[in-house]
Amino acid sequence: MSLVAEAYPALVLNADFRPLSYFPLSLWSWQDTVKAVFLDRVNVVDEYDEVVRSPTIEVRLPSVISLKEYINLDRYPAFTRFNVFLRDRFLCQYCGGQYPAEDLTFDHVVPRSRGGRTTWDNVVTACQSCNLTKGDRLLRECGLHLCRPPARPTTYELQRNGRAFPPNYLHESWRDFLYWDSELES
Ligand SMILES: [Zn+2]
Repeated sequence: MSLVAEAYPALVLNADFRPLSYFPLSLWSWQDTVKAVFLDRVNVVDEYDEVVRSPTIEVRLPSVISLKEYINLDRYPAFTRFNVFLRDRFLCQYCGGQYPAEDLTFDHVVPRSRGGRTTWDNVVTACQSCNLTKGDRLLRECGLHLCRPPARPTTYELQRNGRAFPPNYLHESWRDFLYWDSELES
């Protein structure tokens, strides 16, 4: 049987059985997953029907695994392009418009030419048009307003925002873990 690399990914859960991340959904390729199982780093929670065989062994491909060692998600997330977009929920922070990621850019609230730094509290997601309007000006000089003052998010906040972006494909065996971990609305 031949398996393409992207097929049969495993949903990766933390040691507390909550997904490591939502958006992108924490998935490992079957190759990485099988390796981790053999290294005894993960528990197999659920499996696909598919089997890989070598001359000596036969393995059912895991569809859900949980890490044996808990990864602490309380620390602050990395300051990356993706995480800034995720913090801002892919919305332009000036006009509030929603755009595909490729139409979004970054804006320095205090422009770099005016001493603004590239930090969580000075960088926001912006659409091309607002970015152009703003140019090298300060907010009070261009008439634009921020939807929300930018700040460093916690990993928890990013997780919460990520839940708003359901993945295109969900294997049946993943649904429970995603479902039981969703926020209850009061
Ligand atoms: Zn905009």
